[in-house]
Amino acid sequence: MFSLLFLIVLYFLPAILGRDKSDATGIFLLNLFLGWTIVGWVAALVWAISSDRPARVVYVPAGAAVYCSRCGSLAGAAHFCTACGRTV
Ligand SMILES: [Zn+2]
Repeated sequence: MFSLLFLIVLYFLPAILGRDKSDATGIFLLNLFLGWTIVGWVAALVWAISSDRPARVVYVPAGAAVYCSRCGSLAGAAHFCTACGRTV
């Protein structure tokens, strides 16, 4: 009985190791459906222990930019809003 439980835990080891990653569902599905092939199990394990891709951050320059108080669009350094024509 304990050997069966050990084999189940060993089979789902990639899914257990990758449960906190952003691709946890993909790792689990690969482990579930292709884990019985050794290649699928190793691929899921490598995917599970590899590092997550860093989140992409886009910086918007906000130094001299002014937002229009009427429509909210970015007016840049101009004195008039390019979207609605209001003075900013
Ligand atoms: Zn505007």
